[in-house]
Amino acid sequence: MNYNKKTVKDIDVAGKKVLLRCDFNVPQDKATHAITDDKRIRAALPTIQYLLEQGAAVIACSHLGKPKGEVKPELSLAPVAVRLSELLGKEVIMASDVVGEDATAKAAALQPGQIMLLENTRFEPGETKNDPELAKKMAALAEVYVSDAFGAVHRAHASTAGVADYLPAVSGFLIQKELEIMGGALANPKRPLVAILGGSKVSSKIGVINNLLEIADTIIIGGGMCYTFFKAQGANVGKSLLEEDWIEYAGQMMKKAEEKGVKMLLPVDGMAATEFSPDAEAHLVDGIDIPENMMGMDIGPKTIALYAEAVKDAGTVIWNGPMGVFEFANFAEGTRAVAKALAETNAITIVGGGDSAAAVAQLGFADKMTHISTGGGASLEFLEGKELPGVACLLDK
Ligand code: ADP
Ligand code: MG
Repeated sequence: MNYNKKTVKDIDVAGKKVLLRCDFNVPQDKATHAITDDKRIRAALPTIQYLLEQGAAVIACSHLGKPKGEVKPELSLAPVAVRLSELLGKEVIMASDVVGEDATAKAAALQPGQIMLLENTRFEPGETKNDPELAKKMAALAEVYVSDAFGAVHRAHASTAGVADYLPAVSGFLIQKELEIMGGALANPKRPLVAILGGSKVSSKIGVINNLLEIADTIIIGGGMCYTFFKAQGANVGKSLLEEDWIEYAGQMMKKAEEKGVKMLLPVDGMAATEFSPDAEAHLVDGIDIPENMMGMDIGPKTIALYAEAVKDAGTVIWNGPMGVFEFANFAEGTRAVAKALAETNAITIVGGGDSAAAVAQLGFADKMTHISTGGGASLEFLEGKELPGVACLLDK
């Protein structure tokens, strides 16, 4: 996968109409549809402002939720246009469709320095099918395509990839940063490269484990997936999260790490509970055998010390997956301690994954990381080393 892609700075946009794919898939209040977190809109501002300053006419677009190819008024992007307009301090012209009469007329009339927003791209049935006819119609609105929706680059949809068949395509600043930092860490990492993998399931992280085994110097395992690894070593895991079907695989991964000379660190102690509940009491378990009536909920103090030591002299740390059930205060310590260790190391620190990013933010370490990937699913596929259609479609440098 080539991560060296042209950006808005490599192309002349002055006086041109630019179709800008943003990630405006914001969380909304279920009853009022009010935007509950405008982080993604704020994140899009640097690219939008740059384009407007350069004298481009910006035709922004995005999906929101899953309307499944139908017009669903509750999934209209109109509230995003309002918020975007407040943040930019200028009018954002809202189109009532994606490639229909209204969008076409408004795009045609749009002047340099002006911005409009198309309706939810997923109102169009062709969007998620990457229908070339829809892509062609979107492309016809503009002269240049800029993609800045990192959260959607793992999907080959009309607005994230298809449209690049018909227009010169470059990245905005958000995708540029993801490619530079995450792409750089995967393609040419500052070593030693330490990968910290946690979260709930082995099965959802197979691709990530496989890929990082090829490139990391050390792999650290935590979270719910460690019990499947414990089981592979013949330990008792009690009521812990266990994926029977993946025990053999976990064993193979440990063997593979050994063969490749990759250091694999597993927890040596943990915090367990008798029930999965926010007010469950935390019991220290020394060693990896979890009592029959308990489930492992977090890594323990010895493990924390071991893991903190392992990231101290790292050149790069890639972290995906919380170390424990961080949503419960009694079991957030492992994740907090690892976040703190990352905050204190001189290494390049990269956090990928939706829950991991949320955990780091919730625990107050967000501004201490080199980079927190803005794409949940996209950042996982990135770490898996998969080709991302929304990146592959951009012009190479
Ligand atoms: P990401 O979204 O960053 O890729 P995951 O979705 O894989 O991360 O995992 C996050 C979830 O893993 C969290 O909701 C957390 O509560 C859960 N988790 C972590 N440790 C455990 C554990 N020991 N038992 C059960 N769930 C766990
Ligand atoms: Mg998740």
